[in-house]
Amino acid sequence: MRKCGFCGRSDKDVRLLIAGLDTCICDECAEQAHQIVQSSLGSVNGAGNDKFAKDFDMKQLPKPAEIKAYLDQYVIGQEDAKRYLSVAVYNHYKRLAQKDTHDDVEIEKSNIIMVGATGTGKTLMARTIAKMLKVPFTIVDATVFTEAGYVGEDVESILTRLLQVADFDVAATERGIVFIDEIDKIARKSDNPSITRDVSGEGVQQGLLKLLEGTMVNVPPKGGRKHPDQDYVHVDTRNILFICGGAFDGIERKIAQRLNTHVVGYNSVQNVARIDRNDLMKYIVPQDLKAFGLIPEIIGRLPVLTHLNPLDRSALRSILTEPKNSLIRQQQKLFAMDGIKLTFTDEALEYIVDKAVEYKLGARGLRSIVETIMIGPQFDLPSKHVKTFVVDEQFAREQIEKSTLGH
Ligand code: ADP
Repeated sequence: MRKCGFCGRSDKDVRLLIAGLDTCICDECAEQAHQIVQSSLGSVNGAGNDKFAKDFDMKQLPKPAEIKAYLDQYVIGQEDAKRYLSVAVYNHYKRLAQKDTHDDVEIEKSNIIMVGATGTGKTLMARTIAKMLKVPFTIVDATVFTEAGYVGEDVESILTRLLQVADFDVAATERGIVFIDEIDKIARKSDNPSITRDVSGEGVQQGLLKLLEGTMVNVPPKGGRKHPDQDYVHVDTRNILFICGGAFDGIERKIAQRLNTHVVGYNSVQNVARIDRNDLMKYIVPQDLKAFGLIPEIIGRLPVLTHLNPLDRSALRSILTEPKNSLIRQQQKLFAMDGIKLTFTDEALEYIVDKAVEYKLGARGLRSIVETIMIGPQFDLPSKHVKTFVVDEQFAREQIEKSTLGH
């Protein structure tokens, strides 16, 4: 009787037995062996990793309008930023698709910097775009980096994360996208760097510059600090797209200063009258980033500058219900799993928006308000036999007032 040489089962117990020279292998063992080969070889040289696209065919690339349409499903407003991001991502794909041309025109990469108050959708935008891309993507926080030799992480660890996301496929890593959050936190603290050592400011910017410029970087595969005994993975950052985001608190003052100092002559008096003082962010130019404390070399390597608008009442109201995975839809899904149809009245939604405006947390506030209102029903309803539940303004108000949020 023929048996599988790996698990010992006979041909009666398995679906398929493949005969070799001296032994046989059953379908299940063959499958398992295949997986072992995939995971051990695939992670070493990147072969067999289908998660990420290898060839970029112009015909198959999503066009900027398609990328933006996708973003529209999740991100409310922020039209400018969405357009800039869509074009930048499209161009990134084009760069990857460019074959060795003979015309000496090489498309340079256009790293992006997005400026906007916290909770206006910078990270959401980056995350959403990552979902539709077939390249490795990671989000890192600039606040953890310090200058080499000090406590904290080396800038190179950005690439460790990207490597990990790419299952250590170096070729895929070299085509990836990195979102660096809180880039404003590494701004130079003072105009005179020589007095005290600016460990997390200019030094980090210098380190980052190398990555943005495109060079070969020695990446510690396990992250953390560089260590002399560690084996490094060599990663070329030439084709990695960097998207930076930051709130740049107080940059409006720099913008206002610049706008004021530039007003000379009759024409500019007219222009000043047209300046929207409530939304200075839309006048941002690279010069303002320099005034804030980013070194000119970094700014030069982030040529696409875009801003996000503060969210007004109507934007907050839309964020509650419109995005594909809006907070309200998420709550409805949770309750639907218990067989309960959940609805919110318009007045209840308006009340939630009022509270978010009052707490000044932007869209971030919405979530904690909704959670506070829903904690009671989430606790009670699954063990009761109800089929519907309506959240009206009175109920929402009661829940908020009796919670810590209401005080
Ligand atoms: P930040 O600008 O600080 O990176 P986030 O993108 O993390 O802000 O936003 C926090 C949360 O607020 C997101 O998870 C999302 O639910 C919501 N949010 C913020 N801005 C928007 C927006 N423009 N459209 C839809 N949801 C948004």
